[in-house]
Parts: sequence; C-alpha cells; structure tokens
Amino acid sequence: MENIWVEEVFKDVIGLRFRVKEILFQGQSPFQKVLVVDTYGHGKALLNDGMLMVTERDEFVYHDMIVHPAMMTHPNPKKILVIGGGDGGTVREVLKYKSVEKVVMVEIDEMVTQACKDHIPQTSSKLGDPKVELRFEDGVKYVADTKEKFDVVIVDSSDPIGPATPLFNKDFYQGVYNVLEDDGIVVSQCESPYYEIEMQKTIARIKSELFSIVRMANYTNLSYPGGMWSFSFASKKCDPLKDFNKERYKELDGDFEYYNDQIHFGAFQIPNFQLKQISEYLSPWPNQ
Ligand code: SAM
Repeated sequence: MENIWVEEVFKDVIGLRFRVKEILFQGQSPFQKVLVVDTYGHGKALLNDGMLMVTERDEFVYHDMIVHPAMMTHPNPKKILVIGGGDGGTVREVLKYKSVEKVVMVEIDEMVTQACKDHIPQTSSKLGDPKVELRFEDGVKYVADTKEKFDVVIVDSSDPIGPATPLFNKDFYQGVYNVLEDDGIVVSQCESPYYEIEMQKTIARIKSELFSIVRMANYTNLSYPGGMWSFSFASKKCDPLKDFNKERYKELDGDFEYYNDQIHFGAFQIPNFQLKQISEYLSPWPNQ
C-alpha cells in the first residue's frame, strides 16, 4: 500500500500530517495552489497553498462555531454576507435559519468552490440553493463598493497571507461596518491564540475602534495547528452574552452537531494568557 502524506507546515514551526488515500484534484489558480485529497483518518480535505482549510472529519465544529453564536444572537437575521468560505460549509449552516432570505458569498477564487462542488459535497451541497448568490471577486472590494446592507457578515477567510492579507486590516472592517445594518454583527476567523496573538490583538483593537460590542470565542479544532482556534465577534448592538435567543432553536431547519447553548456561553470565556493580551479591547463581562 502506498504511503503518501500531505503536510501543512504552519509558520515554519509545526507540521501537521495527514495520510492520503487519493489525490482528487490539484490546480493552480491566479491566487493559490488548490488541492483536494481523500485521507485515511479525516475524509476529504481541502488545502490552499499547502494550508489546511477543511476536513470532512471536523469541519462541523468550525462551521458551527463561525455561524451559530452570531445567528442565535441577532434578533432576525435575514441577509447574510459570507466573505471567503469557498468550501460552502458556512453557507450550509446559515441556511438552517428559516429567517434567512438571502446569502451572498464572496469568494475570490472560483477554483476553490468548483473543486469543493466536485469533490466535497458535505460542505458544498447547499451552494446551489436559490437563496444563495455566489460572487467570485475580492471581498475587500465587494464591501467597499456594494450598496447592499446585511444583518450578519461572516469573514470565513484563509490565513493572513496572499489574497487574505487585506481581510485583516482596518479599511476592510470599516467597509464591513458600512455594509452592516444598525443591529449588525460581524464574525471573523481569527487564527490560533497560541501562534497568532498579535494578529488577534490587532483584530480586537480594530473592531473596538468601530463597534460597541467586541468579544472573542475559542473552540477546539482537531485538524488545525495548536488545537485551539478563535473567532472574533463584533456588533453594533447585540451582545452574544445578553441577547442569545434560545427560542431560535425552534425555527431551525436542521440540527447542530457541535454547538449548543452551554457551548455558546462557554466559548466566550477565554484563558488568561490570551486575556492579558486582548482584554483591553474586549467588552466587559456582563455584571462585572
Ligand atoms: N476554514 C478555513 C480556514 O480557516 O483555514 C477557511 C476556509 S475558506 C476555504 C477561505 C477562503 O477565503 C479561501 O477559499 C480563499 O480563496 C478565500 N479568500 C482569501 N482571500 C479572499 C479575499 N480577499 N476575498 C474573498 N475571499 C478570499
């Protein structure tokens, strides 16, 4: 039996290896090298420029945690903007809410989405839904130019290298602020607290300069380096710790595999080493 492994080398300090059954797709787009493999332990996996994006084994955790804390907090999320998210997992989760009327997904790289449609239906199966508008363009330019307004913006970006770099700066978040309704929420993929604390600090600071509520949520991610990963939350009004609406479970089309109300509150409790670096930018804990 062949012994092929694919390895993500993260920040030149750690490598994560997955044993490969079969290479399903590889291509070079104008933006990155796109690879889809079938693995022995994690099912099908997408890697962009050698960086692991999703695996079938644990994508449900990432997609639950990037979507549901915000969607269960907003009073009536109807229009959703997803920046990046080309594998489709975020769109799949957003569509579970019956209140949702329209989802715009702005992915810079059509090759990523096509490769996932062809090989990873587990994440991409809802991208053809009539509520979904797919746009293949730069998310930074889209938020700067669009006249549309959204209730929730989800920045499901890759790591801050290559085309994703501007998704981690203030001009982009000013654009996100402008496209959000008055009760709007933004959630962003915010990397590892162990390896990217400076970047987390930057995102928390930028959001604190624009939004009234800023929080950080952690969760464990089986296939990302360091295990613990973060999502940064910001909003104009709604606080996930005060405005969580349990009744919304009744309106769902589908169920959650990872997220529940206890995880919702637990995720926003972050460890001291991370708190020491970013607490000055986070909203105070209720009743403190
Ligand atoms: N779960 C993943 C992770 O954290 O590693 C993210 C998944 S998703 C596939 C990230 C997507 O963001 C990539 O497909 C990439 O092409 C897209 N992307 C990067 N920069 C972008 C930009 N400026 N505008 C829109 N999409 C972008």
